[in-house]
Amino acid sequence: MLLTKLFLFQTIRYFIIGGGAFLILNKWARVRFQKYRIQETPVSQKQLSTEIKYSLITLLMFSAFFSTIFSPPISPYIKVYAESNIYPLWWSIISVPILVILHDTFFYWMHRTLHHKFFYNKFHRTHHLSTNPTPFASFSFHPVEALLETIWILPVLMIIPIHKYSLITFAFISFLNNIKGHLGFELSSGSRRYLNSSTHHSMHHRLFKSNYGLYFLFWDRICKTEGPPA
Ligand SMILES: [Zn+2]
Ligand SMILES: [Zn+2]
Repeated sequence: MLLTKLFLFQTIRYFIIGGGAFLILNKWARVRFQKYRIQETPVSQKQLSTEIKYSLITLLMFSAFFSTIFSPPISPYIKVYAESNIYPLWWSIISVPILVILHDTFFYWMHRTLHHKFFYNKFHRTHHLSTNPTPFASFSFHPVEALLETIWILPVLMIIPIHKYSLITFAFISFLNNIKGHLGFELSSGSRRYLNSSTHHSMHHRLFKSNYGLYFLFWDRICKTEGPPA
């Protein structure tokens, strides 16, 4: 059954990659990575349990969403294709960054809307229970926010033809970017010219009123919502 397979896959990936990153940075190689830690606030066992509980609910909702749209009666309207000769190879490649840019734009405006007092208290506060986030917080959303996080892709997949491997590649980039944002450690050297960093999102969890972006800094810069680096 598609729902079960999707849920198992996403849950295993969450614990292996997210959990692995958490254990390496916070336990196994703690001394080595200490200097890269963004916030000193200790992470409690209660915070970890809350992050994991809401993340598992979100992953179940994501699985239900995708198993629904990839099954009748919705699937005939979805333009995801598996054949290699329908559209040229360049389209399969370029559709991945297009999805990332669309996702980044949708996320920025949805996220800013969720910070309106009315929506924040009802839905987004769950994600901000972690003021010093860990990779386990990557999917720690209120169920309504979990639905909002994924609903944007339905009209996109009904309008734009996407090769299934392009969609899988995008999903993996999105997952890794999400883990990076909640790492709690800044591992990227270089300047933060275009890309959202772990520090950016960690500061968003602590300060609430800046750094709403997901992949890039464009929207935060255009709308003057880029916050302090630390
Ligand atoms: Zn937020
Ligand atoms: Zn977050």
